[in-house]
Amino acid sequence: MDKSSLIFRYLFLLSPLFLSIVQGIEIHHAGRNAPAVTVSNNSRTSALLQNSAPQDVHWTYKGESEHELPVAQWASKYPKCDGRRQSPIMFDMKYAFKDTDLRRLTLVDYDDAPVKDQWSVTNNGHVVQFSGYFRTPPQLQGGNLPGKYIFEQMHFHWGSNATLGSEHLVDQKSFPLEVHLVHRRKNETMEEAVENAVGLAVIGVMFEVAKTREAPSRHMEDIVNAVRKVTQPGTTLNVTLPYFSLNELVPNANQSYFRYLGSLTTPPCHEAVLWTVMMEPLKVTESQMNVFRSVLRTSTGESGSRATARFLTDNFRPVQPLYDRNITYYTPPEDEEGILREAGINRINIQRVIKPNPENTRMATDTHGIAGPAAVAAGPTTRRRGRNSAENIHSKAAFKALILAAIAGLIICL
Ligand SMILES: [Zn+2]
Repeated sequence: MDKSSLIFRYLFLLSPLFLSIVQGIEIHHAGRNAPAVTVSNNSRTSALLQNSAPQDVHWTYKGESEHELPVAQWASKYPKCDGRRQSPIMFDMKYAFKDTDLRRLTLVDYDDAPVKDQWSVTNNGHVVQFSGYFRTPPQLQGGNLPGKYIFEQMHFHWGSNATLGSEHLVDQKSFPLEVHLVHRRKNETMEEAVENAVGLAVIGVMFEVAKTREAPSRHMEDIVNAVRKVTQPGTTLNVTLPYFSLNELVPNANQSYFRYLGSLTTPPCHEAVLWTVMMEPLKVTESQMNVFRSVLRTSTGESGSRATARFLTDNFRPVQPLYDRNITYYTPPEDEEGILREAGINRINIQRVIKPNPENTRMATDTHGIAGPAAVAAGPTTRRRGRNSAENIHSKAAFKALILAAIAGLIICL
């Protein structure tokens, strides 16, 4: 064996080391571009501060009397409303990026109904809210959430006309209605969950007005009939909604969604929410919207007259600054590569470069266990990628391919 062959052999033996160096660089890159979200256990002190504000003023959206705190002044009584991860936000597709690490949602028992199909419906003067007693409460999992989240309640935000109403906007566009499905982290009470940076997981779903002769989404008529019964503020009623389950609001778990870190959209604006906002809107008719618009937030006006009772409309908070947050989104994979990635297999490219052999491909498909870890947000912090992560992925792939090509060249030389 001549000297140059020996050098090549040594280089070949050292190639795994090169690869691990490359991996190391990737991890370092990911670490730099994906700052962990700082999780602050919101202290009880700020809650106490909130209580020091005058109690006779209550929060509203419009602020139509001296006793009403308008949305722009919420922070004067609820300091958290002035935080840097507030909701809602606008999803600007120019700045949102597809995160290939994101996985589909897993909706557990979303087809279950509460006992006797009975829902408790409340008009609390801010929203109309539905909750129920479930033997096995629906759970939200998957979608890179850092655990399991138990369904707590759902509620609606709407506008006085079809051009506004939703809390979240997509590329400047408002929707007439938005439902929020609120889930709290398993084994935490709501009180504990709101103090945890990832204590709540809320799904937002928009509605658009159905075109003429187009049907509304299934069971919307049942929902609307329930809303009709609680037009008076402070009303809570039990209503039976046969065959209605949360599946009707999220009909397909494997649909595209936006993901970002935010807050409750009502005071005290706890920054505790991992938001999942579905891209596909549901359908509502104009006459169903008018039922929402007939809900009252005060039973009498300032003069005490019922004739001047105030309608609960435009009960949405304006979009909040994004600050340094990222908006990512998930779309279901359409190609073979995407499906494999979805299954957590991301070494297939390496296998193909070394040996473009169908047998090998099959073997790689079976290697779930050794596939690269999905970017599952773990523990109290959530991993996020920087906006330029797509470029990083490309440059990493190119670097890897270069190394592999060099190794292949060396083998040929030998
Ligand atoms: Zn809400």
